[in-house]
Amino acid sequence: MPELPEVETVKNELLPHVTGRSITGITLFWEGIVKEPSAAEFCSGLTGQRILGIARRGKYMIFFLSGGDYLIIHLKMTGSLIVQKSTEEPPRFTRAVIHLDDGNSVFFRDPRKFGAMRLVEDRDRIVGKLGPEPLEADFTAQVLARRLAKRKAPMKALLCEQNLVAGIGSMYADEALFAAGIHPVRSAKSLSREEIERLYRAIRRILRAAIENKGASVSTYFRPDGSKGTAHFEFRVAHRGGKPCLVCGTPVERIVVRGRGSYFCPKCQPEKV
Ligand SMILES: [Zn+2]
Repeated sequence: MPELPEVETVKNELLPHVTGRSITGITLFWEGIVKEPSAAEFCSGLTGQRILGIARRGKYMIFFLSGGDYLIIHLKMTGSLIVQKSTEEPPRFTRAVIHLDDGNSVFFRDPRKFGAMRLVEDRDRIVGKLGPEPLEADFTAQVLARRLAKRKAPMKALLCEQNLVAGIGSMYADEALFAAGIHPVRSAKSLSREEIERLYRAIRRILRAAIENKGASVSTYFRPDGSKGTAHFEFRVAHRGGKPCLVCGTPVERIVVRGRGSYFCPKCQPEKV
């Protein structure tokens, strides 16, 4: 599933293609990808608008429109946004096409159909409750400690909670917990101050490196030009079940924590400390 580094990469790489462009029309191959308003209102509301820019918040992309409203896109499990000529054959599994006035289109490809598009006037209704952005200056170790305080849930589940910190999902939670030496089932309230600081630094370092590597293509993530990211080549535990830990050689294990497959090294991340 695309997480913060993947969505940030897609946003950055879409920007030069869409900024200042007008939307000449929308084609929907699957209406269910539009969550609000109705599919017909979505298409007519977007047509004729100019795209002023895109921001990312958590795993959402917010397109700023000349009419003052917002197109909000979530890639969910398997979505990608591909830019190519409008006249070219749509990529397989394309559910929606945003046609631009320069002859290019943005193709929303989404094999599993979990992706979502919204046209809204009030973006806070969608993204207003998200937790802090982990790469912003106002996200500090103290902020993380405060948000984890008194929480009994396993760390893996908490890091994936979008209202606690925005943008982290299963892959980068596993990587950050490994780097900090924290077992995924440990409760937040069991963490020492040093462990929280280690985790904080790991989150920032790992997300930044993954953005530099243009995201992780472990399954169906593609960049807007159709190429893959390389961040997964740096993974130390995520999606490495059974392979030797790169630090100690112990086989990496996979367990399910609150419904999420979680990879960890049992030696580097002891359950009891
Ligand atoms: Zn290890």
